[in-house]
Amino acid sequence: MTQNSRYRKRPNILITGTPGTGKTTTAAVLAEVTELRHINVGDFANEKNLTNGWDDTFDCYYINEDLLCDELENLMEEGGNIVDHHGCDFFPERWFDRVLVLQTDNSILYDRFTMRGYSDQKLASNTECEMFQVLLEEAKENYPEDIVVILRSDSLEDITKNVEKLTCWISNWSPVL
Ligand code: ADP
Ligand code: MN
Repeated sequence: MTQNSRYRKRPNILITGTPGTGKTTTAAVLAEVTELRHINVGDFANEKNLTNGWDDTFDCYYINEDLLCDELENLMEEGGNIVDHHGCDFFPERWFDRVLVLQTDNSILYDRFTMRGYSDQKLASNTECEMFQVLLEEAKENYPEDIVVILRSDSLEDITKNVEKLTCWISNWSPVL
């Protein structure tokens, strides 16, 4: 199968971005509307025992990336997945038809971090991650530029708008066999 060919009946979407930008919220709403499968990578890895402890800086499990990719392969091959993760460099490029990078204004993100009770150090690391557009760079390095899309996620209206746009894109998807 050629890379990123549209052979899947339903597309695979990756939602990435700095912690707190709204990946899980957006993915959950989108999954409900479109009936695509929401895969929260951290939770999935935890359920399948594919983790190596807890990363306190980014509030997530250290994931055994090779085992996780093996475990996800069949689902991804089938299509119709919304994968929700703060990193994207270890997934095979061929898995995704769209890579969405959520971005949030730093002052808004700061409030979300304090709501989550982040320590100063954690706050600084995550704020820097957003400021330097780490996830956008990672997405651009690992996927074709024309499938990487930035989505603003400052407000609930943004989520509504993003979900509408994505639902429309998904419903227009047709496989090319
Ligand atoms: P992530 O999965 O990227 O870490 P979450 O979806 O868990 O982010 O969201 C973190 C917090 O920020 C939640 O309390 C959520 O309600 C809030 N939030 C996320 N995105 C938005 C948004 N666009 N507008 C308002 N609140 C948001
Ligand atoms: Mn999340």
